[in-house]
Order: sequence, then C-alpha cells, then structure tokens
Amino acid sequence: MTAAPDSPLATLWCPSPNREPRRNGRTPDMLVLHYTGMDSSEAALDWLTREESKVSCHYLVDEEGGITQMVREAERAWHAGQSLWAGETDLNSCSIGIEIHNPGHDIDYRDFPEAQMEAVEALCLDIFARHPIAARRVVAHSDIAPGRKRDPGEKFDWARLANAGIGLWVTPAPLEGALGLGPGDEGEAVAALQRDLDAFGYGVEITSTYGRGLENVVEAFQRHFRPERIDGRADASTRDTLARLLVAAQRAPIA
Ligand SMILES: [Zn+2]
Repeated sequence: MTAAPDSPLATLWCPSPNREPRRNGRTPDMLVLHYTGMDSSEAALDWLTREESKVSCHYLVDEEGGITQMVREAERAWHAGQSLWAGETDLNSCSIGIEIHNPGHDIDYRDFPEAQMEAVEALCLDIFARHPIAARRVVAHSDIAPGRKRDPGEKFDWARLANAGIGLWVTPAPLEGALGLGPGDEGEAVAALQRDLDAFGYGVEITSTYGRGLENVVEAFQRHFRPERIDGRADASTRDTLARLLVAAQRAPIA
C-alpha cells in the first residue's frame, strides 16, 4: 500500500486498519453516501481508524470541506453493513463509501454547509474520473439499509449533486391531499408499488401486502427523493416521482 491518497483532493491520509481486498474481483461501480452521526469529524476520524470499531470508509468530508482518505479505493472498506441494492448484498466490495460529517438525527441534525457540499461534489466527480459509476448507483446509506439507517438524511442536497452530474434526480411531484397506499393495504396496487421499488434497486419482496418492511423502504425513498413528507405512505406524489425516476434511470448515462 502506498502512503498517498487516490484523490488529489484529499489533503489528509489517515489509514484505517479496517480494510481488506475487495471480494470476487469487484471494482468500484457504486457510491454510498453517509453522515457520521457523531459529535465532531475528529471523533468520527478517530473511530473510523480504530481497529476495535470494525468500521471504516474511503473518505471523510468535514464541515469546512476538508477531505481525508483512510482506505485505498482498490480496497474494501467497512461502511455499508447489512445492506442490499439491485439484488446484491456485499455492497462493500463494489462501492466507495464517503462519510460526510453531520451529527445526525440522534444528536443535532443540521444543514450541510456550502463548503462541505462543494467538497462532496468535487470528490464525487473526481472519483468518477477513475471509476464508471451509473447515476442510479449513487445511493444513500438509508437506501441500502431501510429501517436501519437514515443517513445522510432529508437535509442532504441531492438535487445539487444531480445538477453537477452526480446521481439521479427528478423534481418531486407536489404533495396532494390523498394519503394513497399505506400499512395494512393489500392487492395489485401494492404489488405494483413493490415491483417499481424493486426495479429501481431497493430491497423489496413482492408480497402484495403493505407491511413494515415496505413502509421502511417507502420512507427511505422519500428521504432521498421526496423529502417534503417522510411518512412511509405511497401517496400520489411518491408514486409519480418514482415512476419518473425509473424512466430517468433508463436514460442516464454511466458517469
Ligand atoms: Zn452510514
């Protein structure tokens, strides 16, 4: 292992022991964005580079926009945990993980500062220059672990990143009064919703029943793509936004 970061934008290189070779010959074709959920980025860096934590990521972006690399892109970092996207479960082997410092929902969830978003945007574009990553494979930790994770959360500016060519975004359909489908509902409309979420990449079983698992996935979808109301109900705005994203996903080029 060399002592130099992969990204010229990383001004600090603090190797984490929590890394290993990527499995099955995988190379990065996915980006997973996180928030740290800790009091400070210094505390996050300390934790992510401690052997006992058993967690790590490739990059950490602090609130001032400073970028630290701790695992080489060629290696497997331990950031995704139990997760699923597009039918795959070993997402650490195919992804690059970026931790974006924010204390998060349990401590003090706040807006991501401009300097930090600028750094995240530049870092993603820099990674794309080395790895082909499809727009639909730029995801939130909450997308791949619904019900378990909420990061980076509804305050994260996905629209801004999409404007720069990072990830998929359509303007969310406006909210309407009707509540749509929700927990307890059954039938073909629920199955159709499950099929659409599954086709987009979420881990959903086609059961025709709106259970807790589906509610968690709809909440994760809303947190990322329709943040105005996060209630786990498939209202008309949620359905319409998902339908247009499916079309956009087909059209989007690989970065
Ligand atoms: Zn996370």
